[in-house]
Amino acid sequence: MDEFGLFRQALGLEEPWEVVDVQFDPSRRRLDLRIDFRKGARFPCPECGAAGCKVHDTESHTWRHLNFFEHEAYLTARVPRVICPEHRVRQVQVPWARERSDFTLLFEALVMALVKEMPVKAVAGLVGEHDTKVWRIVHYYVDVAVEAQDLSGMGRAGMDETSSRRGQSYVSVFADLDERRAVYVAEGRDQATVQAFSCFLETHGGDRENITEVCQDMSEAYLAGTLKHLPAAEITFDRYHIKKHLNEAIDEVRRAEAKQQAGLLKNTRYLWLKRPGKLTAKQHDWLDELLQQPLQTARAYEQALKFDDFYEIDDPDTAEEYLRRWIAEVNAGEIEPLITFAQMLEEYWLGVTRWHHSRVSNGLLEGLNSLIQAAKRRARGYRTNRNYIAMIYLVAGKLNPGHQLAHSTP
Ligand SMILES: [Zn+2]
Repeated sequence: MDEFGLFRQALGLEEPWEVVDVQFDPSRRRLDLRIDFRKGARFPCPECGAAGCKVHDTESHTWRHLNFFEHEAYLTARVPRVICPEHRVRQVQVPWARERSDFTLLFEALVMALVKEMPVKAVAGLVGEHDTKVWRIVHYYVDVAVEAQDLSGMGRAGMDETSSRRGQSYVSVFADLDERRAVYVAEGRDQATVQAFSCFLETHGGDRENITEVCQDMSEAYLAGTLKHLPAAEITFDRYHIKKHLNEAIDEVRRAEAKQQAGLLKNTRYLWLKRPGKLTAKQHDWLDELLQQPLQTARAYEQALKFDDFYEIDDPDTAEEYLRRWIAEVNAGEIEPLITFAQMLEEYWLGVTRWHHSRVSNGLLEGLNSLIQAAKRRARGYRTNRNYIAMIYLVAGKLNPGHQLAHSTP
């Protein structure tokens, strides 16, 4: 075995590549491996695969590799350019790194494993690289995984917006409700965003005519987008968004009433907004006491509980009938914010009652949202929407970007 054969084996190098020098510098905590190809070696053309192309010239390049214990390890090699009779001068693809990267595939595999578990900034600190370099790796593998998606089976879509950079801008997340994962993320929350999704779907094996159910909020932009660009879809307005509107109505009642009833209503906001099952025993007693009082807020709260029952009824016709009676009751009362909410239900009637046929909700996206918010908190300094979008794909896309690296050499 040659002098550096063990290193060659450890790196998984194959003919004509070999390790020709190993320099170890303990003071700089650095290990340098020089790799070279055997003299006279020929390579296939990277374009057409034609074997036996002659080397034209070489260019030296260095790649960061996995640490060797506490020492940073680097590979340096002369990368040959070959002459193909058809494609002329082309640079050969080396087996340990992808084109134009300063890291070996194994190093990138480590980075991709780490960014799934910790913030990019922390990963950058751990491996001792600037975080822009780590982001570059993340973007490469996320982009590849996003592009490789097969959406031919997609039939039910959920769409939702999430804010980035403290509400200054928005991104839209489109999910496959059956696979329970985000498939497309884009800047904006307008009609064009839905159009972009339908194009993405079609260029990834899907068919917009196959999208038969869509779950979304009641924004005019999404509505117009779905009607135009997902024409076969029945629309269900997401029950969690509807509930949010109702909660806002109750809160409006409470805030108005608190001006007269400051003593009773002080610090009660969450009592009215939390589900009864989520209250502590003490909070429960407090709520029960408040419900005995002649408060508008208490009456609005009781109406809201009755609204929740709409989703508990199995039969669609019975549920519709129930909701009509609920609206009539609200209209007979004099609680303005609830009347406005009931008007919204009537205006969006088809999409509200569609739930009893489709049973789709964006609960998945709500769940993803908390993951996304957590990721956002952990990775301060996203700087760009592009980074934010890549992070959403990572946490919500189930894409497993870079997993192919685990099987690559060296
Ligand atoms: Zn060629």
